[in-house]
Amino acid sequence: MKQNSTKLDSIADRWGRDPTALLQILREAQEIEGWLPPLTLSHLARLLGLPRARVEGVAGFYSFLHLERAGRYRVLFSDNITDRMAGNLALLDRFCESLWLEQGKASEDGLVLADTTSCTGMCDQGPAILVNGWAVPRMTRDRIDEIVELIRSRTVVEDWPSELFRIEDNIHRSDIVLGSSLEPGEAIRAAITPTLRDGQTADSDSAPRAMLEAIKHSNLRGRGGAGYSAGFKWEACRRAPGEMRYVVCNADEGEPGTFKDRVLLTRHADLLFEGMTVCAYVTGARKGFLYLRGEYRHLLSPLEDVLARRRAAGLLGGQICGHPGFGFDIEIHLGAGAYVCGEESALIESLEGKRGVPRNRPPYPVTHGYLQQPTTVNNVETFCAAALIALRGGEWYRNIGTAMSAGTKILSVSGDCARPGIYEYPFGVEVGQVLEDCGAERTQAVQISGPSGTCIDSTEFGRRIAFEDLPTAGAFMVFDETRDIFEVARNFTHFFAHESCGFCTPCRVGTTLLRNIMDKIHRGKGSQYELNQIFRLSQLLESASHCGLGSTACNPLLDTIKRFRPTYERRLESLEYEPAFDLDGALERARTIAGRAESGEHSGADS
Ligand code: SF4
Repeated sequence: MKQNSTKLDSIADRWGRDPTALLQILREAQEIEGWLPPLTLSHLARLLGLPRARVEGVAGFYSFLHLERAGRYRVLFSDNITDRMAGNLALLDRFCESLWLEQGKASEDGLVLADTTSCTGMCDQGPAILVNGWAVPRMTRDRIDEIVELIRSRTVVEDWPSELFRIEDNIHRSDIVLGSSLEPGEAIRAAITPTLRDGQTADSDSAPRAMLEAIKHSNLRGRGGAGYSAGFKWEACRRAPGEMRYVVCNADEGEPGTFKDRVLLTRHADLLFEGMTVCAYVTGARKGFLYLRGEYRHLLSPLEDVLARRRAAGLLGGQICGHPGFGFDIEIHLGAGAYVCGEESALIESLEGKRGVPRNRPPYPVTHGYLQQPTTVNNVETFCAAALIALRGGEWYRNIGTAMSAGTKILSVSGDCARPGIYEYPFGVEVGQVLEDCGAERTQAVQISGPSGTCIDSTEFGRRIAFEDLPTAGAFMVFDETRDIFEVARNFTHFFAHESCGFCTPCRVGTTLLRNIMDKIHRGKGSQYELNQIFRLSQLLESASHCGLGSTACNPLLDTIKRFRPTYERRLESLEYEPAFDLDGALERARTIAGRAESGEHSGADS
């Protein structure tokens, strides 16, 4: 333990023994033994001056942190519906059989653990797995066998062939964001020199305000799905009283089927950091955070390199671009497998080193965000667009897309199509156009914006991707005529039940009940009663859940029952009530032994 204590001390020291870095410290501490033993938690609690219960509570919240021995190799199979369609479960079986494993349990020799995890953001190249947090896409039987051999030979993951970890960008259509090629610093210089923009002649004192007006004029709306005006958000943060202001980039794209941020972070990190810096200039923030989802751990080091390069070039740190009084820097925090942290107040809690439980709102993060100070939270795509607006002006931007949805939208296209990957379109593009471009044929349904979004059928492919019709955070999952839409919806109920943070009862219990109902129907034991239960639960979840996860958990069921009802009804054993407990079945053996009576007698039906 002494050796481990020294390592823990140095991890905590590197994070300044700051309790707000608890999640980052736990994540790094887990690297030592592959899990977080009780002594490690106690030691960290002492180092950070925190109650031990708080440290254990945080560690227990995140699915990528292990409080029990988890194995030297932790292999998690991505279990989005697109991974299922590509055969992930057969590969998981093969892996477990090869290594004599039981799913979800570490092997007795402490070598390996295999389990499933929610979508890993590799849907364009699935099925994918995570090995000790590192993504391995394009899994096949051959790759499973190769990995089994690497584990048997105890080869450390750092020495595995790099080809296993190669991730494609798969960009098939670019527009203003993916096609941009601005020089580092160009957008920031434009922001602090407003005469270059929209013909404005403001002096340097009013430059941040002029930049804000350009963002408002552009009609830029947040790309996380809700579509709140970025300009109004920035303005509210700028005006809110506070000693410090913060800029937070939400790169926790956990919505199943979404992976566009992965590509933006790989290809356009400068554009993102430029947009965050422009936001800091407008709002007066001096510190920013990039909250990167744990599944994108492979991007951490390259992104740190970009930040270091920008600091060296005077684009971060004190006096950015030589501008007196304009200091700003960015820190990257890595998530640890909690979908709910995509909700902005939960993300802030996580950034503060706590469990990622959504806060009560109001107050909103723009006035009471990180450490209760004014905080602007936007996602990756929004900040990238803001950088372009700084350079080319709000008028230019608002003329792209539709009147209510300015600019472009980047779609993560996956499922049954010839060319899955990334597509950027001006807002207003028809679903049918996207299907044609990605080579989809005989499509029966498209799931727009992930499980919490909208499922549409082939009569609706003339609908448009836009806030006024089909808003989306980016996911665009395609299902052809061979797919069973009931199974798609069932997969989504498992996702919500798994990701519910458990804070509020309607969601914690409701999502589990929904999953159980769908499993019962799947087993052919459902009836009209179960369908009615789904509608009752949807009212409860929608009205009583604390955050969007619970309130949208029924969306995929309501959409698919409405559009694909026969796929439910043909599974129903009876359209009448069917009890959850099969009493006849349970008593059958006893009847046989006693040589008594007919089945159903207990009900008294014939008396
Ligand atoms: S709705 Fe679900 S995810 Fe949201 S706070 Fe409640 S339990 Fe947590």
